[in-house]
This record gives sequence, structure tokens and C-alpha cells, in this order.
Amino acid sequence: MDPFASPHNLDKELHSLLSKASSNLCNWFADSGTQGPMPDSFDLPQVSPAKEGVSNEVLLGELQLLMNGAYRPSHPGSLAHLDPPPLSASIVGELICAGLNNNLLADELSPSLSSLERNLCNWFCQKLGLGDLSGGVAASGGSLSNLMALVVARKIAGLENDPTAVFFVSDDCHVSFLKILTIIGLKQESLQKIPIDENGQLKISNLRSSFNKIKSEGKKCFAVVATAGTTVRGAIDPLSEIAQFCQKEKIWLHVDGAIGGIYGLSRKTAEILDGLCSADSITVNPQKLLGIAKTSSLLLVANKKHLSSTFSTGLPYAEPITGNDFHGGELGIQGTRSAETLKLWIGLRQLGEEGIDKILLDSIRRRCYLESLIDSSKFKIISGPLHLLALTPIKYSVSESSNWSVKTRHFLLAEKFMLSRPFYGDRYYLKAVMGNPNTKFDDLKKLAHLINYSVN
Ligand SMILES: *Cc1c(COP(=O)(O)O)cnc(C)c1O
Repeated sequence: MDPFASPHNLDKELHSLLSKASSNLCNWFADSGTQGPMPDSFDLPQVSPAKEGVSNEVLLGELQLLMNGAYRPSHPGSLAHLDPPPLSASIVGELICAGLNNNLLADELSPSLSSLERNLCNWFCQKLGLGDLSGGVAASGGSLSNLMALVVARKIAGLENDPTAVFFVSDDCHVSFLKILTIIGLKQESLQKIPIDENGQLKISNLRSSFNKIKSEGKKCFAVVATAGTTVRGAIDPLSEIAQFCQKEKIWLHVDGAIGGIYGLSRKTAEILDGLCSADSITVNPQKLLGIAKTSSLLLVANKKHLSSTFSTGLPYAEPITGNDFHGGELGIQGTRSAETLKLWIGLRQLGEEGIDKILLDSIRRRCYLESLIDSSKFKIISGPLHLLALTPIKYSVSESSNWSVKTRHFLLAEKFMLSRPFYGDRYYLKAVMGNPNTKFDDLKKLAHLINYSVN
């Protein structure tokens, strides 16, 4: 048995392995409804390679163990996080991507796929209104897109050697910005957190006063980060006002749209993101709502030259490319990179504009529906314009709400609903994310009933 596909003949062994694996995967999907979101228990296969390689049959059996122990995003009750089931075309995209094994580092290692990535990033930029000089690069996750954005912003501001330089975020910004602080070598004080209002949105007046304060201390700012879709409640910072502020003060505006940016793809939802087109950079994570198999994230910039001027090294071991384009490895932090945009492209093609609209609108409809069913005399509900909501009992103390959240999450899991339990403000909430297209209104009725009776 040759473990590499034959370059000469149709490799029957590969063909048979792929078709058996595909059919096991299809069965795994088919079983998901009767199982719950989480496995009750699981066994792991042997980790270390045996002396001799094992047969395909053994491999498939071992794979099955892992599949049995996997989280099941397609179960209708899988509502805990921003992890929807994958589009079928996106699964195929991932498979073909692995088979091609091209490398987005350089065009010569991925001729068609490098061009596809450039064109797809340009398409996203046009959709989000970023203008003629814009462009982008794919990254393995939103944390990396955010990191690259801030590295670029700091470099463009000429502050990469200033240990006191700061950037502004809201109190509800994503945890990735804490990591970024460490990675780019800044102290805690460089991350300036701006308070939020009762809707979870950055308070622009506080941004102004904090900015004046750091200026009076002789410090410089290299970026303001606005969040379009916060992680617990899906709030969107006031993008237009923040953009005006940034334009006036000549500061880079990065929009962390890992959750909300994707709503810019539909004319029916784009108005939620008013002002997004004035950003200098945007993180978008199609993995979080559209059903593109993980990972799928893009960093889009209003001026694509800023990517190459920050990251380009000359890539001395690859053939230069003609024209104004740069190799993929010259546009970001990652070197070798798989063609993650393949599954994004094929997923979008499969959906079409109507399919994209439907996913986005249905997610908001499900959130509104669930929200309407929750007893507001018992629960404080926090949400925004997107598909997330979180709730906590009104009358409970901090410790009572903690107990309630643990017990209710557990109880809901037994009923095959998986919610998450974020700590937000001063207490625990239960959070539901309505990005699962398999969740029907009847499921939500049942869920709301269970939640309402978790408090008497
Ligand atoms: C998920 C998320 C990120 C990080 O994306 P990863 O793909 O998990 O690295 C960044 N910002 C926000 C608002 C997010 O929700």
C-alpha cells in the first residue's frame, strides 16, 4: 500500500479511502440529530505511530472514535458559541485544498489560488465599501487578523519603537487584544479601555477625553479599535462617529468585525454597519456565521500597500511576480499558508446572494424570536442588532446567578441545548448564538420554556 497517490493512474486505494471516509462523515452528520451537541463520553485512538503503518480499515476505525467524541455543531441545540455547521461546499473546498496542498506563500506554489485569494479579498473590500486602493489577505483566525492590523497601524504611524504608544479599545473588546499587547511588546497601559454604555457600545465622549488625556501626558496613539459585534451580546460600536474622530485626529481605525463584519455582505443588513466603509482595516471571520469550515478570516485594508510595506521582506527565494501584486507571504505574518479562501469562495458560490441574505437575516430573526419568548419579568436580556443574546435572572444576587448559570447550563445540556456561560459585568450570564441554521422556531420555543422555568 503506497501512502501517496499515484501520479500516473487513478489511485484506486485513495479513491476507496476517500469514498469510505466521506460516507462515514455523512453518517456522522446523519446521527447528529439523535445525539446531543456534546458526546456523553469518548475513547481516544492510540496516538503514537505503530512500528508498521496501519491499514486504511484501521485508520477509518480510529477516525470514527474521534468523530464519536466530537462536538456536533449541526445539532439544532448547538447554540453556545460562534461555531455553526459547515456548508457542504465548504467541506469539499477543504478536502480539495488538502489534496492540492498548494502554498499561499508564493504565487509559484499556488498560481490559481493566489489569484483567487487576491480577487476574493478585493470582492469583500468592494462589498464593504473600502474603495479602489483596498485589498486584503486571509489569516488563520480573527486573532491573527487583528494582530496584523495593529502591527500595520503602528508601523504606519511610525510608532513601532515607541514603548509608550497606545491604542484604544472598548471595555467589551475581544480578548485577542490582550494577547496582541504582549506580542507587540507593549505594557498594560498601552491598551486604553474606553467604557461602554448600557447598549454595550463604546462611549465616544470617553474616547475623546481619554485621547486628550494621553496627549497631555505626551503619549501617542496608533489605533482606535471599534468592535462590530461584541462577543457576549453582539453590540456594534458607533462606527460613523468613531470614524469621524479618527479622521480628524489622523488615527488608524481598525474595525474588529470578526462577528458582525459579515453582515456587510447583504444589502438587507449592511445598514447595521453604517460607517464601516471609513475603516482603515477590518477583520471579517466568515467561519463564525456563514458556515465556512474553520479557519476562515480575512484582514481587509483600505490601502493594500500598507500590508506589503509592513510585511514585505523581498522573499528572496521565490520568483518575483509581475505587476503591482505581492506574494501572499509578503502581505502578512504567516509564511506557509493553505488556501483557506478556497472553501470561502466555494461556499459563497454555493449560497449565492440569496443564500447569503437568508443566513444573515434568519440568524437575526431567530435571535428576535427567542428574545420575544423570554420572560422579561424574570430575566435581564442583553443583545444588540445581531444574532447573539445573553440573559441572567433579574432578582438574583451575584452568587445566586452563578449557581443558576451552572445548574441551568447543565440541565439544558441534558435537554440537548448547549448554551455558554460568559462572565459579563459583575456576574454570569447564559449566552445563545443563533448562527445554527438547523435550529427551528419550535426548538426555540422549547428552549425559552426551559429557560423561563429555570427561575420561579
Ligand atoms: C472570535 C473573535 C475574534 C477572534 O477570532 P478567532 O478566529 O477566534 O481568532 C476576534 N474578535 C471578536 C469580536 C471575536 O468574536
